[in-house]
Amino acid sequence: MTVRTDTAAAAVPAIALVAHDAKKDEMVAFARAHEARLAAFRLFATGTTGSRIRGACPTLDVTCLKSGPLGGDQQIGAMIAEGRLGGLIFFIDPLSPMPHDVDVKALTRLSVVYNIPMALNRSTAEFLIRAGGFARPAAVSAAPVPSD
Ligand code: PGA
Repeated sequence: MTVRTDTAAAAVPAIALVAHDAKKDEMVAFARAHEARLAAFRLFATGTTGSRIRGACPTLDVTCLKSGPLGGDQQIGAMIAEGRLGGLIFFIDPLSPMPHDVDVKALTRLSVVYNIPMALNRSTAEFLIRAGGFARPAAVSAAPVPSD
């Protein structure tokens, strides 16, 4: 297997934001609390999560993808696989059954495979955003990526 270093994500830091329904209020509160910090990134979000963040934080430029159950989680997974994301903030709801549970698992799995910073709850997201943990997309380029 040949290995290449993907530097695309190093050019413009980008992070993705996803929240399950029971966690959307928490995501909005997080985005409000860190609006200035988040403004330094290109932001991508699943459809409903992104709409909620846009409504609450009009200064943030959030690109809304498809809703999670309709493929939004897989779109974000593809971005991770392509080296286009430097981090993932995914407020998961561990107490509710999800019709797209396999997509959720696939997305978190890819974050591990490509070794990007991933926050699955608010305390981890708080830590990473305050520490600048999402602002070092070079971590992505350090991950070996199969060339084909
Ligand atoms: P949503 O998707 O932001 O469109 O609700 C999130 C999810 O359930 O994965």
